[in-house]
Amino acid sequence: MADPTENSEPGASSEALGVLRRVFGYDAFRGEQEEIIEHVVAGGDALVLMPTGGGKSLCYQIPALVRPGVGVVVSPLIALMQDQVDALRALGVRAGFLNSTQDLDERRMVEAEFLAGELDVLYLAPERLRLESTMSLLDRGKVSVFAIDEAHCVAQWGHDFRPDYLTLSALHERWPDVPRIALTATATEATRKEIAARLQLGDARHFVASFDRPNIQYRIVPKNDPKKQLLELIHGEHAGDAGVVYCLSRKSVEDVADFLVAHGVAALPYHAGLDARVRAANQARFLREDGVVMVATIAFGMGIDKPDVRFVAHLDLPKSVEGYYQETGRAGRDGLPSTAWLAYGLQDVVQQRKMIDGSEGDDAHRRRLTAHLDAMLALCEAVECRRARLLAYFGQRLPEPCGNCDTCLTPPVTWDGTIAAQKFLSAVYRLARERRQKFGAGQIIDILLGKRTAKVIQHDHDQLTVFGIGTELGAAEWRAVVRQLLALGLLAVEGEYGTLVLTEASGEVLGRRRDVLLRREPEKPSRARSAPGKPRAAAPADLPEAAVPLFEALRAWRASQAKEQGVPAYVVFHDATLREIATLRPESLDALGTVGGVGENKLAKYGERILEVLAESARAQAPA
Ligand code: ADP
Ligand code: ZN
Repeated sequence: MADPTENSEPGASSEALGVLRRVFGYDAFRGEQEEIIEHVVAGGDALVLMPTGGGKSLCYQIPALVRPGVGVVVSPLIALMQDQVDALRALGVRAGFLNSTQDLDERRMVEAEFLAGELDVLYLAPERLRLESTMSLLDRGKVSVFAIDEAHCVAQWGHDFRPDYLTLSALHERWPDVPRIALTATATEATRKEIAARLQLGDARHFVASFDRPNIQYRIVPKNDPKKQLLELIHGEHAGDAGVVYCLSRKSVEDVADFLVAHGVAALPYHAGLDARVRAANQARFLREDGVVMVATIAFGMGIDKPDVRFVAHLDLPKSVEGYYQETGRAGRDGLPSTAWLAYGLQDVVQQRKMIDGSEGDDAHRRRLTAHLDAMLALCEAVECRRARLLAYFGQRLPEPCGNCDTCLTPPVTWDGTIAAQKFLSAVYRLARERRQKFGAGQIIDILLGKRTAKVIQHDHDQLTVFGIGTELGAAEWRAVVRQLLALGLLAVEGEYGTLVLTEASGEVLGRRRDVLLRREPEKPSRARSAPGKPRAAAPADLPEAAVPLFEALRAWRASQAKEQGVPAYVVFHDATLREIATLRPESLDALGTVGGVGENKLAKYGERILEVLAESARAQAPA
């Protein structure tokens, strides 16, 4: 049907390149952008899987600008539409939106602009498409392309299902000649198939990008004093940076936010229990101001468009690798070096296993949850490259270790933990066999260490043959052993108290038929900012020392501009653009125009003023 070769116009691609340079101020396309854009401009349907920060927006914005008519973008992110439209207008693109936050007059005005062909891009909330009035509006105007953003929302079994997305299959029936492009950052094969089926994208070309995010440094550290560890991360590496901290419960969100504020970090809480207005206000501050840290439950973040989130920290274990990937993926959309940091400990494993046990739903459901958790635990306990593991989970291969994750930077030492495992498992066994008792990790570790605590004496546990046989390790080391035994399935958690029981596989260890290789935590967690040796392609070098004052001056100027216009700072310029300006110090408008992210419109609007900021900063730094 939509055969791209049928009506392909020669020069479509050079026209697209012209728009990229003139409007967006970028030199060249990235990855598959060019192919995707060419395909859609020529009238073909496309299904695009690209990680967050991969550059999906251009894939529909440029066809919308190149093809005659208005590009209609369906997006569930109503709260962000205003910002998205502002960002396009700042580039000189005629953009508008229709959603439930507008009153009738505002809506009428946008509709009139649409009909008059005075728009290039129209953002539309999916629930609008249920209305015949919206359909007939689209009939009366000219649509150049339908873009379906966050397309995984159509997948029933995915994590973000939106019933309104199901009506999107009607687009194809009503406007068979308008090309459609569906985009998502959700990587699994099952979701991709479901999207294609439900949106009737049978003839669409699939574009699957690499899901690697080379600028993100993945680190998973043992949890001992999480709030203090987090503070060290922020003070040591991310002072003044925007970041997101994920916690499991509302209470810990509040607690951690208070703690950070008390230690001088501009932190705000975000969870579903907060008043809707407070939530909206906190989100707006996070988006608009520089350097705000959002402490949140996972209710926060879908589609957060902020390009300069420098770190994502998890204080609790995510429930799945998908969740971990999506959440960490909110760091570093702009391609600059960023950190994904997770603190993880024995208690996380116990708690999550307990939650699965107590979860509603049938056995199959619990098995699925368990499989998700096991994959996440395997990532945490990995001794080889984390990135390679992560990508392998999505069926992609990394040709060599990445050099930019903790296990690459500080390879963990492995040790033969077979004897330790046997000691621990036999303590569990003896308690069950001789006493018909089950205990949590704490008591069993006390027994192995030969500690005569009140609880040990109360239960006569100092009479067990295993009492005091494990003094070669400390309590923290024993906890690491238990954590790994749980992760390996050599031990299981049971019931509401999180008591430990043996599994079938435990027998193999006790019967000396299986060795247990364990990971020893590095003494000092790695905190290198970048890989020694080869730099990663997408991660530009850190800002040179000499450019820092100028960068800060530009940031201050940007903040005042953003405030004046009531838009997020990144709508004015991205960090990456300011960094490049601070490094290059262009002396003319022409030179400034060559900087990435400085298109015609922004050059005309801000060019002179930026040259002034540069001159002022040069004067301030010159010796008197
Ligand atoms: P996604 O929607 O896939 O998360 P975006 O469309 O927001 O990603 O793009 C991520 C970042 O990359 C943005 O800062 C964008 O301006 C930038 N970008 C996209 N394409 C290019 C390109 N060809 N050259 C330079 N920067 C680009
Ligand atoms: Zn690695």
